[in-house]
Amino acid sequence: MPVEDLMDKVVNLCKRRGFVFPSAEIYGGFRSTYDYGPVGVLMLRNVKDAWWRAMVQQREDIVGLDSSILTSPKVWEASGHLANFTDPLVDCRNCKERWREDQIDGVCPNCGSTDLTAARAFNLMFKTTVGPVEDEGSVAYLRPETAQGIFVNFGNVLATSRRKPPFGIAQIGKSFRNEITPGNFVFRTREFEQMEMEYFVPPPDGPKWFEYWCAERLGWYEKLGIPTNLLRLRNHDPDELSHYSAGTADVEFQFPWGWGELEGIAQRTDYDLRQHAEHSGQRLEYFDQASGERYVPYVIEPAAGATRAMMSFLLAAYDEDVVAGESRTVLRLHPRLAPYQVAVLPLSRKDTLIPVAKDVLHRLQPHYLCEYDETQAIGRRYRRQDEIGTPLAVTVDFDTLEDQQVTVRERDSTEQVRVPIEEVLPTIRAKLGF
Ligand code: ATP
Repeated sequence: MPVEDLMDKVVNLCKRRGFVFPSAEIYGGFRSTYDYGPVGVLMLRNVKDAWWRAMVQQREDIVGLDSSILTSPKVWEASGHLANFTDPLVDCRNCKERWREDQIDGVCPNCGSTDLTAARAFNLMFKTTVGPVEDEGSVAYLRPETAQGIFVNFGNVLATSRRKPPFGIAQIGKSFRNEITPGNFVFRTREFEQMEMEYFVPPPDGPKWFEYWCAERLGWYEKLGIPTNLLRLRNHDPDELSHYSAGTADVEFQFPWGWGELEGIAQRTDYDLRQHAEHSGQRLEYFDQASGERYVPYVIEPAAGATRAMMSFLLAAYDEDVVAGESRTVLRLHPRLAPYQVAVLPLSRKDTLIPVAKDVLHRLQPHYLCEYDETQAIGRRYRRQDEIGTPLAVTVDFDTLEDQQVTVRERDSTEQVRVPIEEVLPTIRAKLGF
């Protein structure tokens, strides 16, 4: 399939099936903001849950945190965001469009003019005011990353979680950046969700853990079904590195328009903890009682975007094939990411079938996200489930009333097997692997 078509098809499918809607659509939309519909919200939660499982649940060395979006502006002063979190902004003198200088090649992508202003630093943080009086003292910022909430809580977490380096603090939440050129659907938006983890290590171990997290994070996308040829790890050139970084690698995905970042893995050294210690006057360090040693840990940060990751999972999963002479669209999503794991479908709306189908549904609902659907012909309902990526469908038909068996259909192969109702749950569990 031509790649430009792929983007259109996925965006259309997202709209048509309830994954992602343009925000405030009835008012004509609002500048690259999006709402996640009934199916999209489930998938986005699954992306975040998969990250949380891998980063927190299945590890002994990482704890979670949920810090506030609004916080003291002193945080952003100390972190360097007030001074440095800028993009180079240029104006086209011909058509008046504004661009990020590093994203265009000296040519206005809108009108082709090369008559551009000199670049000036544009701070990406959204400014707001807190409380009833709007003056300098009430200025606050919407966080542009979740990481700083982790650094400022370093002492609190250390004191309460009984962890010692190497250990990590993980957080998922919204971040806001006043991007100059948002676009490419949910790839770059001004409001988005991040999944970030700060891993604190003894300074000499920094490089070792950097390698470890690069491999670990690349593997996460692969395990969730993105083919390896659509993924790569790219080391930043020295001139790309942020002022605090001793090395950064990006996990990149082959988007229809080229390689794009899914996640940055940065060696932030002790920059953030030292900055906050200096500005707050508090000690932010680890005291090792055994050796009597006191030190400021180094930090390895894998920082991913949940909404951007979701888009890459959708693009990688999109497929069209022909089944029994009929073409269909199918999202080959990993079962952990699919909005629903199981669809329960009575063959018809006949009252004899409905109670049996509901019984099957109620057996599965405590364990899996299930969709129950009794409208339209069964073929169309299968198509719909294929299109939203539901890996398994359970159909209750008239034979069920005789033999107490149901049909379990697989999305990818469309193969069907009949199993007794009593065995539906273990069958689904075996097929899904969880
Ligand atoms: P870029 O250079 O593309 O602006 P960045 O390097 O500044 O991105 P980071 O600060 O490393 O991005 O953010 C970590 C992750 O957060 C990114 O890899 C991406 O997945 C996500 N992210 C960052 N900005 C946005 C955005 N505007 N919209 C959606 N996701 C974003």
